[in-house]
Amino acid sequence: MIEYVARSGPPEAMNCPAFICDTCRNQVVAEGIVTWATTIGRDGDRGPHQQTPVYVAHKGRCGRGLELWIEQHYPAADGWIDLWDDLEDFVCQLTHNLTNAFADDTEGTYHPHRLVHPKERR
Ligand SMILES: [Zn+2]
Repeated sequence: MIEYVARSGPPEAMNCPAFICDTCRNQVVAEGIVTWATTIGRDGDRGPHQQTPVYVAHKGRCGRGLELWIEQHYPAADGWIDLWDDLEDFVCQLTHNLTNAFADDTEGTYHPHRLVHPKERR
C-alpha cells in the first residue's frame, strides 16, 4: 500500500510517502505492481460494484503471493476477478487524475463502487 515512512536526519525529520510491498513489507522502487479485485466484470453490470483496496508488491514472487492472498479472500466463486497494473502506469494515471476531474471527462463513464476490506468478507 502507500504508506508514510518516518525519516530522521538532515535537513529535518519528515514523513515520506512510499510504496510498501504488501507481501515482504519492503519499499517497492521502480519495478512493482498494483493489484486489486473487483466484481465489475459481470455481464456489463454498471454497478455499484465492489472493489478491494489497491495493494502493492514487487514483481515476481511477491506479486504472485499477493494475488494468491487476494484470491483466497475475494473468491472467484463470489464474482471477484483480480486485476493488476505496472506500478509506473498506475503512477502516471494517478498523476493525471490529480488535476483532471472525472466530471470533466465528457466521453467516459465512471462507475460507482463500494470498497470492501478483507475483514468485511468473513
Ligand atoms: Zn516484496
